[in-house]
Amino acid sequence: MNQKPPEVAAKEPHYDVIIVGGRVAGSALAARLGLYGLRVLMLERSEFPSLPAVSSPIIYSPTMKILDEIGADESIYARNTPRITLMHQIALGASGRVHIPEADGRAYAYAIDRARFDEALWQNAVRLPQVDGRQNCNVVDLALDGECVTGVVVKNEDGSTETIHSDIIIGADGRFSMVARKMNAQLRDEWEQLPTSIYYAYWEGVAMIDDLPSASAYEGHGPFGYLAMDSADGQTVIAVEGRSEALEYDGEIDAFYEQKIMELPALAERMAGATRVTTVRGMKHVSNAYRQPGGPGWALVGDAYHHKDPLDGQGIYNAVITGKALAQAIRKYKRGQLNWEEALANFDEVARVKTYSMYKTLQRRIKESFYPEPNRVPPWVNEQMTRWIFEDPDMEDLIGKMLTRQLPADMIALMAPPTLMRALARGPWRDLRKRMGLDVQD
Ligand SMILES: Cc1cc2nc3c(=O)[nH]c(=O)nc-3n(C[C@H](O)[C@H](O)[C@H](O)COP(=O)(O)OP(=O)(O)OC[C@H]3O[C@@H](n4cnc5c(N)ncnc54)[C@H](O)[C@@H]3O)c2cc1C
Repeated sequence: MNQKPPEVAAKEPHYDVIIVGGRVAGSALAARLGLYGLRVLMLERSEFPSLPAVSSPIIYSPTMKILDEIGADESIYARNTPRITLMHQIALGASGRVHIPEADGRAYAYAIDRARFDEALWQNAVRLPQVDGRQNCNVVDLALDGECVTGVVVKNEDGSTETIHSDIIIGADGRFSMVARKMNAQLRDEWEQLPTSIYYAYWEGVAMIDDLPSASAYEGHGPFGYLAMDSADGQTVIAVEGRSEALEYDGEIDAFYEQKIMELPALAERMAGATRVTTVRGMKHVSNAYRQPGGPGWALVGDAYHHKDPLDGQGIYNAVITGKALAQAIRKYKRGQLNWEEALANFDEVARVKTYSMYKTLQRRIKESFYPEPNRVPPWVNEQMTRWIFEDPDMEDLIGKMLTRQLPADMIALMAPPTLMRALARGPWRDLRKRMGLDVQD
């Protein structure tokens, strides 16, 4: 495709790929391309360890499996981070427990510290001799030859600018991607009918449920819900998320966020001796969309390619799986098995197969959780039904399989209504057996 000018090639190593952005998507892609033997340069404007703009993340076994493939060491990226084996769903006086099912030898999740995680992935990529990385390096523009991207213009820490060329430029630069903006990348499947906002902070001294690290979702308290996840170094991340209009605030976000958290008695009780140890971060009106996968000389990956509301906790999985799909397409292109257009189409197809059904499921979940139809059922019946659903073993199994992607999200969507009906039918029977002091196995 595009050739570097000979005078530049003489001064710098020839890179097959330059990646703008070096967090999850960028580092995972760089490591895989490096393992394929391609020369890669990663350019990142922050310095590690540091937090990304926003993220309060949990990761499950499918993400860790992909990280295994690129050699990322779990004991480093999850250092001093408790294994979460239990998820609690707490709503309307009822609570349910989901044991995270085993998938690929792991029956746990991590609410990771993103600063530690991102640095570990960066180091994992740059340990490879084929991968170079520069931090404090802001990519301010793209070099073009006609419509084809041929390089990047960077601004270094010392204020100097330079142009670096390569065969392919990748935007792994997040949901507000500069590469996408400069190339006027088209949005696809944009979904903004039901706007949501999210705010979160890390705390110390939050009481665990049953003394076990867990992730707890608190719902049924109006147009927003809460998430509390036990994270690294004894900290707990607490998020409030929901309908944007219900999370509008005047004045200080810190005070607004803390007031919302303390409004929920079950959470306030756990936080009696807790101290907030970070600022409150978050995002108003979270956008949800895909972008076109790329164009002549360029491509997008991770959030730059597809970003969405974090309710399903799958953004990091998407970043690593789209990184894998793009690396494989680039390898085919480099081997001459596909031309660049075909490689982009191949990447797009694989990436959408891996991400699209979860995206549709997320949209349904946002509607059910934060924009439900008015409920005409009396509150006590609602509470009873919620408890029957939460306590049902088939529901636990289904939720566990969805989180760990052991069943495709669209299959889960098909299975959910009959499972719900069965849960509601079996609930009274289970209650009766409990009252009679009998074994409650179904
Ligand atoms: C509140 C919140 C909670 C979340 N919770 C979860 C969760 O529980 N589980 C989960 O899996 N996902 C979660 N996500 C999603 C997850 O954080 C993202 O999907 C993930 O960070 C995407 O990774 P990325 O590498 O594509 O982009 P980013 O993490 O955004 O990284 C992009 C990088 O590009 C760099 N960059 C940008 N522009 C330039 C430039 N011009 N030059 C050089 N560098 C540049 C940035 O500095 C940044 O480091 C959450 C997101 C939010 C907002």
